[in-house]
Amino acid sequence: MKKIIVIGCGISGLSSAILLRRQGHQVHIVAERLPPQTTSDKAAAFWSPYYINDDRAAGWAIESYYEYKKWAYDRRSGVRLTELHRFGRGDDFGHAAWFRAIPEGIMRPLSERDLPCAYDFGWALTVPLIETQLFMPYLMEQFLGLGGTIEVRRIEQLNSLQNDGDLVVNCSGLAARQLADDELVKPVKGQIVMLDMQLPLPILLDEQEPTYLVQRSDGLLVGGTREEGVYTETTDEPALQDILRRAAVLQPQVMQARRLTQWAGLRPWRPHVRVERSGNLIHNYGHGGSGFTLAWGCAREVVRLAEEW
Ligand SMILES: Cc1cc2nc3c(=O)[nH]c(=O)nc-3n(C[C@H](O)[C@H](O)[C@H](O)COP(=O)(O)OP(=O)(O)OC[C@H]3O[C@@H](n4cnc5c(N)ncnc54)[C@H](O)[C@@H]3O)c2cc1C
Repeated sequence: MKKIIVIGCGISGLSSAILLRRQGHQVHIVAERLPPQTTSDKAAAFWSPYYINDDRAAGWAIESYYEYKKWAYDRRSGVRLTELHRFGRGDDFGHAAWFRAIPEGIMRPLSERDLPCAYDFGWALTVPLIETQLFMPYLMEQFLGLGGTIEVRRIEQLNSLQNDGDLVVNCSGLAARQLADDELVKPVKGQIVMLDMQLPLPILLDEQEPTYLVQRSDGLLVGGTREEGVYTETTDEPALQDILRRAAVLQPQVMQARRLTQWAGLRPWRPHVRVERSGNLIHNYGHGGSGFTLAWGCAREVVRLAEEW
C-alpha cells in the first residue's frame, strides 16, 4: 500500500483516485475547486473521441467506454447509454485514429433518410452520456465511501507535496501549464446554452463546427464553440446566437425554446494527453475536449505507473 496524493478533483483526479483506492492505496485528493466548480462539471460529457490523434488515446477511449457501461448499471450515477448521430460534409467522415477509438460493433452508417439536409454522411453510435450534475457528486461520494479523503487547498508548486506521500498524481487540468511548467497545454474555450426542452432525441453532433445537442434530464444542452487560446470563462451573446442558429439546422425547435442558463468552460488541450511518470510524480492532464471519453483508460494507466514505482 502506498500513500498517494492526487491533485485535482475533476474527472481525471476522481477517476484516478477511485481506481488507486480500489487497489488498496491510501489516497488523499487536494484540489482548489471541487464539483460543481471544476471544468469537468461544465462538459457536455458524452463519450466521443474528439480530436484524438494517437493510438494510445484510442485505447484509453475504448477502456473508458466499457467502464461507463458498468457505471450505467447504477441509475444514481447519471450515466446511461444512448444513441449519438455524428454528421459530416464532403469526404471528411472521420480519420483513422477516430475509427480506431470506436469499440467494435457499436456503430452503423446512417441512411440518407436520417441525414439533415445540410450533411453528406452520418454515423449512429451507442455511447455513454454522463450527466455531470449527477455523476460528479456521485463519484465524490464513491471515493469517500471507499475511505478516500478530500482537502480543498490551492497548490503553488508540485514539489511542495512530494514529501507528504510516496507518490503525487497531477490531475490539475489547464493549471498544469503553470504547475508542470508545460507550455504545450492551452485553453480551448467552449460555450453552451441550456434550453427548457425535453425531446426524444439522440445526441446530435457536427464535430467540425462543433455543434451538438444533448438531451439531459434537466434540459436540452446545446453547444458549442472551439475558441483556441482564450482564457475568459464568460459567454457572449453573438456566440450563443450562432450556436442556436447552427443547432436549428439539426433540430429547428431549438429556436422556440426558453433559455434556462448558459456557461463557458476551458478545455485543457495539449497536442498529446500526458500520462507519464517522472520520479514519484505521475502526470495525468491535457485531455482537451475528451476528458470524460478518456478518463478511465488514463486512470488505469496511472494505476499501472503507480504499481511499477
Ligand atoms: C464546453 C465543454 C464541453 C465538453 N464536452 C465534453 C464531452 O462531451 N466529452 C468529453 O469527453 N469531454 C468534454 N469536455 C472536456 C472535459 O470537460 C475536460 O477534458 C475535462 O473536464 C478535464 O478534466 P480534468 O479533471 O483533467 O480537469 P478539471 O476538470 O479542470 O479539474 C482540474 C482540477 O485540478 C484542480 N486544480 C487546478 N489547479 C490547482 C492548484 N494549483 N492547486 C490545487 N488544485 C488545483 C482544480 O481545482 C480541479 O479540481 C468538454 C469541455 C468543455 C469546456
